Amino acid sequence: MVHKIIFIVFDGLGDRPIPQLNNLTPLESANTPNLDAMAAVGINGLIHTIERSIRPGSDVSHLSLFGYDPRKYYRGRGPFEAAGVGMQLNEGDIAFRGNVATIDDKGIIIDRRAGRIDSVEGLAQSINNLKIDDVTVNAKAGIGHRIAVVLHGGDLSDEITDTDPHHLESKILISTPLGENPKSVKTAKIVNKLTKKANDIFSHHQVNKKRKYDKLPEANCLLLRGAGKMTHFPSFKEKYDFNACCIAGGGLYKGIAKIIGMTVLKVSGATGKTNTSAKNKIRTLIDNLDKFDFFFIHFKGADTCSEDGDYIGKKQYIEKVDQELSPIVKLVYRNQAICVVTGDHSTSCRLKSHTADEVPLLVAGADVRVDDVSKMGERSAQRGGLGHIDGRHLMRFIDNIVGKEPLYGN
Ligand code: ZN
Repeated sequence: MVHKIIFIVFDGLGDRPIPQLNNLTPLESANTPNLDAMAAVGINGLIHTIERSIRPGSDVSHLSLFGYDPRKYYRGRGPFEAAGVGMQLNEGDIAFRGNVATIDDKGIIIDRRAGRIDSVEGLAQSINNLKIDDVTVNAKAGIGHRIAVVLHGGDLSDEITDTDPHHLESKILISTPLGENPKSVKTAKIVNKLTKKANDIFSHHQVNKKRKYDKLPEANCLLLRGAGKMTHFPSFKEKYDFNACCIAGGGLYKGIAKIIGMTVLKVSGATGKTNTSAKNKIRTLIDNLDKFDFFFIHFKGADTCSEDGDYIGKKQYIEKVDQELSPIVKLVYRNQAICVVTGDHSTSCRLKSHTADEVPLLVAGADVRVDDVSKMGERSAQRGGLGHIDGRHLMRFIDNIVGKEPLYGN
């Protein structure tokens, strides 16, 4: 029985026909010999990660693909972003994702990315371990202008509004409680005090003295959004008895993996962008083949291209990744691994946003009932033997293939 599972997620893989691509989707028009080779020895179908006709975000759709029903486990994006930059979270902590932005003398936001600042590490350190009433603030820099903030202690709630207005030429918003729960009232007050203190500390920080001198936009304002309470997640190992690892560049995906107990492997050149090194990701998989039995490999670029409306870029990105997949095809053909390939949702290049359209799914390897599909694509997937499945049931389907699914009844 094969127990190595390679689980590849192309973010935003599915799409709609593009007139300029002869009414094919970017995946259909891409030259993908390796994906097609696996489709040919696999079972194919379509998946909706949450429910039919629901447009999923990347965070909830990944939870669902791993069998964690987001309706039960999802409490906002903050905890995943914080875990993704390496922060330690305890149950009950409230986490946010944030930007360090630029405000003018009147407190109006004039640059949401503080002039595309390279790093906010020094600024994050300046508010790390800050005490506000009985709450400790922890902060850590993400990529560029991004920052993750965690509030520890003090019986807090995530039922509060963002301070980030999500657009320019507006003042920082005052966080308000959603409802009258005293925990929410308290948390909103803490967040507003933190915003004031952080902006004061940032304004006087060495980093900004230098930026002012260099005539760059000052990184003088903290914007918070996506409050989420860290809850208990049963580990992936507990749920499926797989020793799992994650090979990804994007912080969110590493954060989700970390929170459910996967080992996050370091990959040089994994950027979470279209310039990521697909080669290094696959090499990391091969180098660690003996150490784990479940490999979650995430590729973000297809989604990024779609959100820019770049259907040619999406097609080329899929081709670039496909070129590196031949070691996986060999493992599949030698019955040494089962390979699952899908997306977390569709992203339309024409609409430049996520859609509720189903995503192609292939499962290839030993003990899989092979169908007649020999190309990975939206249209061909409709003819596959898997039909149409719910994302929450995918792990159960995999468990069944490898003989782990427990017997129901007698
Ligand atoms: Zn996504």
